[in-house]
Amino acid sequence: ASNPVINFSPGPAKLPESVLERAQKEMLNFNNTGVSVMELSHRSSDFTRIITTTENNLRKLLNIPDNYRVLFLQGGGTGQFSAIPLNLLSLKPGQTADYIVTGSWSAKAAQEAEKFGKVNLVIPKVKKYTDIPEPETWNLNPEASYVYYCANETIHGVEFQYIPETNGVPLIVDMSSNILTRQLDISKFGAIFAGAQKNIGCAGVTLVIIREDLIGKALPICPIIFDFKVQVGNNSLYNTPPTYSIYIMGLVFEWILAQGGVPEMEKKAITKSTMVYDMVDSSNGFYVCPLSKGCRSRMNVPVRIGAPEGDEAMEKKFLEEAEKNKLISLKGHRSVGGLRISLYNAVTVEETQVLVKFMKEFMDRYR
Ligand code: PMP
Repeated sequence: ASNPVINFSPGPAKLPESVLERAQKEMLNFNNTGVSVMELSHRSSDFTRIITTTENNLRKLLNIPDNYRVLFLQGGGTGQFSAIPLNLLSLKPGQTADYIVTGSWSAKAAQEAEKFGKVNLVIPKVKKYTDIPEPETWNLNPEASYVYYCANETIHGVEFQYIPETNGVPLIVDMSSNILTRQLDISKFGAIFAGAQKNIGCAGVTLVIIREDLIGKALPICPIIFDFKVQVGNNSLYNTPPTYSIYIMGLVFEWILAQGGVPEMEKKAITKSTMVYDMVDSSNGFYVCPLSKGCRSRMNVPVRIGAPEGDEAMEKKFLEEAEKNKLISLKGHRSVGGLRISLYNAVTVEETQVLVKFMKEFMDRYR
């Protein structure tokens, strides 16, 4: 490997080495155009081929039904926190939306939606995000325009292991940190969105997959750049899209297809996360993961040393020694502290083994 570090970053995150090498090879002269992808017109036939192939490969990877449209937008996941209510709140006259808040990202989305309509919190507010209450206890509003949730809370490590049942109300999901890591029935969703910088590429492009009949209801105040109808009508080319980020995403999709598609990514996600959780669970409390077992993320594993509050000096030592061993970006989010081990698609089983071995050695040295 050209790069000796192992990158467990929560995002922007590791990309497959072969994707980077291909981008490097094509950098100065893409497909005999004499220019780089960055210098191609977004209306050129070469770029049209890139965006069309990228969409088709995504459709293949996720078995996206024909009545769903795919958009490549800007504004990140945060942009969609606004775009979703701006486009979908008026699906019902009450302009109310249900939000299942299980961590800081869904909390932020709910807060943003409150600017544009009424938000109903489906589960009671909690102090610590470590669990998902049983669906039987949820306060779903049958008159809601949509139900919103975050499939994987990147900071708290809360991941849904199932698709919530909404009895016909369109289900909207933020899959920014676990898209293409689990086989899914897309027809269960009204819309799916995901920023690219974790599992599917580099920052700058946000994927939206939306059911056709939900398009065309944007509030009059919706900025045109976020109007799904305008973007769909122009195949994501209403204005200049993030061309290079779309190209990199396309390379990642080709890589996933070559690896065996989503089933293979899912298998690896289970293998990698099980290795880490087994290490934590067999450490006799040296390492602690605060999450309930039923909602433990396969993508982001939050870990404390010296729980429940965490021994910050020991955690600092862990991060320093890890870095000396070329294991990088393991620090927990500043809002929760501790460690966070991110295991996106590009992180290999072998790399995870190296980390687990380091965790074991660190524990044996300091327990
Ligand atoms: N949703 C989730 C689940 C995220 O992890 C993030 C970013 N880490 C966001 C939304 C926000 O994405 P962005 O930074 O692209 O706005």
